[in-house]
Amino acid sequence: MNTAARDAGLKLLREHALIAGAAIPAGANGIAVDDPATGEILGHIPDLGVAETDRAIQAAHDAFPAWSRSDPHKRAAFLREWARLIDENTEGLGALMALENGKPFEEAKGEVTYANGFIKWFAGEAERILGETQDTPLGHVILTFREAVGPCALITPWNFPAAMLTRKLGPAFAAGCTAVVKPASQTPFTAIALAELAYRAGLPKGALSVITGDAATIGGVLTASPLIRKLSFTGSTPIGRKLAEQCAPTLKRVSMELGGAAPLIVFEDADLDLAVAETIKGKFRNAGQTCVCPNRVYVQASVAEAYATKLAAEVAKIPVGPAFEDGVKVGPLIEDKAIAKVEDHLSRVQTSGGRVLTGGARHALGGRFFQPTVTLGGDDELFRHEETFGPLIPVFPFDTEEEALGKANDSEFGLASYLFTRDLDRAMRIGRHIEAGMIGINTGLISTAVAPFGGVKQSGYGREGSIHGIDEYVDIKQVTLALK
Ligand code: ADP
Repeated sequence: MNTAARDAGLKLLREHALIAGAAIPAGANGIAVDDPATGEILGHIPDLGVAETDRAIQAAHDAFPAWSRSDPHKRAAFLREWARLIDENTEGLGALMALENGKPFEEAKGEVTYANGFIKWFAGEAERILGETQDTPLGHVILTFREAVGPCALITPWNFPAAMLTRKLGPAFAAGCTAVVKPASQTPFTAIALAELAYRAGLPKGALSVITGDAATIGGVLTASPLIRKLSFTGSTPIGRKLAEQCAPTLKRVSMELGGAAPLIVFEDADLDLAVAETIKGKFRNAGQTCVCPNRVYVQASVAEAYATKLAAEVAKIPVGPAFEDGVKVGPLIEDKAIAKVEDHLSRVQTSGGRVLTGGARHALGGRFFQPTVTLGGDDELFRHEETFGPLIPVFPFDTEEEALGKANDSEFGLASYLFTRDLDRAMRIGRHIEAGMIGINTGLISTAVAPFGGVKQSGYGREGSIHGIDEYVDIKQVTLALK
């Protein structure tokens, strides 16, 4: 066990929220945050409500004019300094995240680097927020400006406590927006630590607040406020739907990164070893608790047994354990109800005829640990409509390309999807017809700061990262010039 790393994480843990840069301590009625590996309480965060959320909104509103009119090169310089401090604190931030989320320490450090990629990318984007000029039929000339939308509400989940925040804050700050952040109550400490580093990097007071407490109360105030001009949310589809409704009366700009039920399709001409390795990479990050991970695997019948057997053999070797144990690749799930959901999905696929090839039960470590599991056969219906969000891979054989595509698309979700084939025509044919925002061909890894991340259908709308990410935080203004 790497106790030095664990201690480095605890050193960055702050039991407070931040309103306009000022610390609001947890006090006696704070909300407990635990270590999912042990259930041990790591610390408390304040249970803030309407009054504090209003203060944070007012601060974001007051800070907006100066920040949005500031020189974009200065905002870029701030983002670069923030990124430098995050790089300097990779170990501590990774450890803090491993503590509150449970993901393996090495993986958590990888997330810090990935998260920081968004800040670095959007530092560059701040310097190229471009406009256009155009002549009009009336003999005028139009100039367009892309201007910050205003103070933003950013609501983030617990599965990527750093990256889900930086992919929103990076473009928001680059564009000149101010922000009020509501992190998930299971993993608030990473957000608070990142915000403190932002202030150390020179962010003006008021440009960022991190509010902790009851999600529905805080979300209600943020969405109702006419001062907040934009909501960016990452989380479940039902909550996203509700928040979109709440934003309707004030007609806020909204981006939604919601649930998925990603299909992964393996054709008989695929490199099966590669398909197995990439399925594992895609599936077991964060113990299968990611919205883009394969939720259902379809394998052409002629190779189904071979693929599933290889997959099960590799999955059986995956080391499971607490975050700071050397070599661990899969940690605990975030909370008890997450384990109950995996058990439910497993028993339902078994009842419909699926066979367990490896795993199939809670892990001997107890608590929130579950064995990485592979099943073969049974009914895929459930997995088209519900994310398991845990370390279970159900594999289903199929016969024809049309059947696989039909099953892939027969879902209300459309976030990620994956294809394994050596046939370029087939890859492009299926790739173009899959209803998803993101498609990995012969890879299980599709997310980087340079890639547009987002879904279609009920997986949401809007794109994060890439050259498109900034668009979510700017409005287009046109100025018509009548020239003599
Ligand atoms: P998950 O299953 O990942 O917890 P949720 O959609 O429940 O997905 O949570 C994602 C984020 O949304 C978290 O920060 C959570 O606190 C917040 N949240 C949950 N319910 C609400 C709500 N009614 N209003 C605003 N935010 C909410």
